[in-house]
Amino acid sequence: MHSLQQRDPEIFSLIQQEEVRQKEKIRLIASENYVSKAVMEATGSVLTNKYSEGYPGKRYYEGQQFIDQVESLAIQRAKELFGAEHVNVQPYSGSPANLAVYLAFLNPGDTILGMALPHGGHLTHGAKVSISGKYFHAESYALDEQTGLLNYDTIQEKAMDCKPKILIAGHSAYPRVLDFARFREIADACGALLLVDMAHFSGLVAGGAHPSPFPYADIVTTTTHKSLRGPRGAMILCKEAHAAAIDKAVFPGLQGGPHNNTTAAIAVALKEASTDTFRNYAAQIVTNARALADTLLGKGFNLVTGGTDNHLMLIDLTSKEVTGKIAAKALDAAGIVLNYNAVPYDKRKPFDPSGIRLGSAAVTSRGFKEAEMVQIGLWIDAVISNPTNTAQQAEIAAAVKELCSRFPAPGLEHLM
Ligand code: PLP
Repeated sequence: MHSLQQRDPEIFSLIQQEEVRQKEKIRLIASENYVSKAVMEATGSVLTNKYSEGYPGKRYYEGQQFIDQVESLAIQRAKELFGAEHVNVQPYSGSPANLAVYLAFLNPGDTILGMALPHGGHLTHGAKVSISGKYFHAESYALDEQTGLLNYDTIQEKAMDCKPKILIAGHSAYPRVLDFARFREIADACGALLLVDMAHFSGLVAGGAHPSPFPYADIVTTTTHKSLRGPRGAMILCKEAHAAAIDKAVFPGLQGGPHNNTTAAIAVALKEASTDTFRNYAAQIVTNARALADTLLGKGFNLVTGGTDNHLMLIDLTSKEVTGKIAAKALDAAGIVLNYNAVPYDKRKPFDPSGIRLGSAAVTSRGFKEAEMVQIGLWIDAVISNPTNTAQQAEIAAAVKELCSRFPAPGLEHLM
């Protein structure tokens, strides 16, 4: 980044500091990862210079000899990896991808049914503060108060009652796999389209570590930057019957020119995700999450649903007498980065909730295995048991830095 250093030393310095932070901290934010150097090179390429409104073979600008091939490769790789009939790789991110689906199939005021935001749904699944809850009639389903699990019978009751046009399965904070066959039954019973938002677990689906929604869903959306380990972007995958409606909704319905540098990086990430190495990575994400969950359960933590079978854990800290925010800030000072999060039926406010959310995708990318996850669990317990002990936080931060120095993070090898 020699030119950047000369042209804009302030930004250069901030990027450098962020590189060091990512190298030296244990990153447990469930939606984050480390992309490869190859993905970063594609993201930072000259493809950012090109406009290409339209789709391969049908553009509004000339000079698409190479861009068409890039986008076609990304589409082909996504189809093969997930077994999808049609793929649109142009959504700028996960939120516009979901909006494009609504634009394709709904009129303002139509009903959608998704998981409630405080129970692990995403803003774009109908939260009142989001355009998805303002422009559409959004209904939501909750988790079971006793078990923290989805109760498919109550989802069915709700669906039969409100008759949504789109039923949404998918989440940002549910630590269990979803029963897509059951969601399909419910969608069929109430006459809805089934949208699966697999943003969080698409890397697990790609690597065979999570059931695939593709035999059941009408439309699947995913971000590309979480467990799938690609650039910040998104895809919509669907049955051929919906291809025209989806493509029209993305462009010209919602967006202008696609971000071709991102499209190329998505293609690279999809190639990486098609390898045996990635299958092993996906399996290790789940193994690592379980190892951390078991350690925390052993220390008396209350994990929502009692554990995990994907990449994430949600912990209710009420019994530990510490709020999510205090815990997250103390852990950050100790070099362990995660986010505070609402838990189902939380009595506290969203900006100061009772829980924390943890994920294993990023640390697994740097090669952590079960032993390191157990160690992380012990550190988390020590910090949360004594959140005002800043001397202990500094000691753990030093130990975290030492551990991280033995596990080079992808894309940051030049710092090791
Ligand atoms: N869908 C789900 C399930 C998500 O968790 C997220 C982001 O966290 C999104 C959609 C939105 O993605 P983005 O932040 O890229 O708009």
